[in-house]
Amino acid sequence: MNILSAEFVTSAFKPEQFPGETRPEIAFAGRSNVGKSTLLNTMLNRKDLAKTSKRPGKTQTVNFYDVNNILYFVDLPGYGFAKASHARQAVWKRAITSYIMGRQSLKLAVHLIDARHPPTPRDHELLGLLEEAAVPTLIVATKADKLKQSERTTLSKRLRDYLGIDETALVVPCSMVTREGIGEIWEVVEHQLTAEDAGPRGVR
Ligand code: GDP
Repeated sequence: MNILSAEFVTSAFKPEQFPGETRPEIAFAGRSNVGKSTLLNTMLNRKDLAKTSKRPGKTQTVNFYDVNNILYFVDLPGYGFAKASHARQAVWKRAITSYIMGRQSLKLAVHLIDARHPPTPRDHELLGLLEEAAVPTLIVATKADKLKQSERTTLSKRLRDYLGIDETALVVPCSMVTREGIGEIWEVVEHQLTAEDAGPRGVR
């Protein structure tokens, strides 16, 4: 997609603050520090539209970005590392759930997982919530530039095994350093924008 305009719209703490469901939405989710802001900025050709932060776990809002006046990119709250408190996990889960459950305009969730590490229990939880809400989901393995060739070869299979997803499910390795994967992610996004109900082959 040719990006003509990309603007921050709003940060929402609760559903009443979400924009009306007037256009299709693509959501991005993943652990803090996974590279979500960097991916959003790269896809939208902006340097710092989504703030990249060195302090993991700070943002608990659902952030909406207008793209070309025709769709929203939705930045979901990042989740912490294994040791986050129960209270913090509950806040995260509430925020994610309040957005994805019953959101008709949500066409695709892009679930980012750091290519170097196994998925965390929160990743499994997120995938479970997306499945429950029947949201087509694309797995993106970030920071692929940091992998050794041997790790690289087994990446997709490893992630599918860890996540318990079937072998046709698409896993896109990506790197913001080499721009690997950006075109492929956009292809899936554009496909989902025009898809009726069913996801494309490979998207869960
Ligand atoms: P967020 O918390 O998920 O939004 O993560 P950020 O986008 O702020 O990225 C966290 C850190 O990872 C930053 O220092 C980024 O420069 C770095 N980063 C993001 N994507 C990549 C990538 O593809 N390759 C490498 N090597 N570093 C990346």
